[in-house]
Amino acid sequence: MNYEALADILFPNIKTSAEFYIEKYPERDLSEGSIVCRYAPSPTGFQHIGGVFAALINERLATQSNGVFYLRIEDTDQKREVEGAIEDTIKTMKNFGINFSEGMISETEEIGNYGPYRQSKRIDIYQTFAKKLVSKGLAYPCFCSEEEISAIREEQTSIKATPGYYGKWAKCRENSFEDIKSHVDNGDKFILRLKSPGNIEKRVEFHDLIKGDISFPENDQDIVIIKSDGLPTYHFAHAIDDALMRTTHVIRGEEWLSSLPIHVQLFDILGFKRPNYAHIPTIMKLDGSSKRKLSKRKDAESAVSYYREEGYPMVSVIEYLLNIINSSFEEWRNENPEASYEDFKVELEKMSKSGALFDIVKLNDVSKNVICKMKPDVVYDYYINWSKDYDSEMYNLVTSNEENCKKIFNIDKEGPKPRKDYAKWNDVREKVFFFFDELFQKDSIDNLELPKNMELDEAKRVIEEYAKAYNFNDDKDTWFENLKTIAVELGYATDRKAYKKEPEAFKGMVSDVAGAVRSALAHRNNTPDLHTIMQIMGEEIVRDRFNKFISL
Ligand code: GLU
Repeated sequence: MNYEALADILFPNIKTSAEFYIEKYPERDLSEGSIVCRYAPSPTGFQHIGGVFAALINERLATQSNGVFYLRIEDTDQKREVEGAIEDTIKTMKNFGINFSEGMISETEEIGNYGPYRQSKRIDIYQTFAKKLVSKGLAYPCFCSEEEISAIREEQTSIKATPGYYGKWAKCRENSFEDIKSHVDNGDKFILRLKSPGNIEKRVEFHDLIKGDISFPENDQDIVIIKSDGLPTYHFAHAIDDALMRTTHVIRGEEWLSSLPIHVQLFDILGFKRPNYAHIPTIMKLDGSSKRKLSKRKDAESAVSYYREEGYPMVSVIEYLLNIINSSFEEWRNENPEASYEDFKVELEKMSKSGALFDIVKLNDVSKNVICKMKPDVVYDYYINWSKDYDSEMYNLVTSNEENCKKIFNIDKEGPKPRKDYAKWNDVREKVFFFFDELFQKDSIDNLELPKNMELDEAKRVIEEYAKAYNFNDDKDTWFENLKTIAVELGYATDRKAYKKEPEAFKGMVSDVAGAVRSALAHRNNTPDLHTIMQIMGEEIVRDRFNKFISL
């Protein structure tokens, strides 16, 4: 067969040579050990947390090694494309502070010398390499109809043969030049298949940077490399793009691990150096006692929008993901409380090989620590940015009481055990509502929390007495002494020890009296330091709350 002539009739418009592109995209001039990697989403939906996870790992490794991290859009499945998905990807990455050094920067623009970075703009490149494979007898057109493919499958099933298009089952391998030419002249559509030289009896060895050493049978299937619409399959585009963009490390989801035999085969056949591979474990979730994949349909936390809506600072999510990537992050964070997460060195080798477990409780812990370290001004800015979009009532209240709000956000910030009230901005309202009369008045009495073992009538009696003796201007120590005096007068013990010794002798302890004051002021059992909150509220509100409580 004259393969050169065959290549010309299949790809008459392709005039460039593969060598042209190889020269056009030369080896990158980077220092030894620099990693070139990418985030390569398909624009088939909105970003989910698994995408951010993969992008973060890639970005960290590239940045840590002074390498290159680029964004490539894999839009070869045009039927599944979702409008707005590319913009969403770019915006999401930006929000998370995951920056690209190269690639798409908007739906239509890109930066860098290794583009186009959008696969649909690279058709000529793929076809040039496809043509080259045909001209060497390594790929061939297949004209089989769906019915013919089904018939092959049925026959394979009936004799229990491995399904697929390979070896003797690969009918179109045998087509003569004349057969093919008459199909083409007829305008028949075709797909291009690799004439696989693989032998299923032989194994390929591979070292995956996360999974370790793996081996698998060679690929013997004549996989599709160019689809009937002229676009490449993922496999073919992956080999061409990662070779020409000079990717050193392909770090991607483990769902691609089983395709590795195809991918290394393609790299070899095309004469490209194989990249390093690392297959990232899928993000899992504990459902009851069993693990399952985080599901786009069932789990709100799989969508990136969830974190924005709930008001997690993006850096909290990043720190949490770093915890999943390398469990040593937590210890590093404890030792380096003030450092930027960028100073932590991500290591693929230390990543868990099996499913990464996503745990919202742990995310909340991480985020509380992140927020707790922020200065009140920073908390304020974050909060107004969030509430502007998601809680306009709070936005209005907070912005019209800026000074007080910063005081609220400053409560118990210093000291060895700073308060960790908020994991996300959506938590703020419930924690601070009582500072605002507008919100406090709307709080249903059903939400009123009283000190344990204290009835409402007793709490009212306590407040009645307390209000008489309370002096707004007392400093904290005097205030507390005063509280104790009232407690004793009302029959409460001044400390736990005295109470424990003779519980029948007292109605409770001073902390119960403080609890009643807390209930009157905030309707809640858990608030920051009472003296502080009263100082922030101001005397008028404090007295008003006491009066309202007494008349409940
Ligand atoms: N477009 C592929 C996906 O979204 C990319 C996989 C890769 O990183 O190579 O799954």
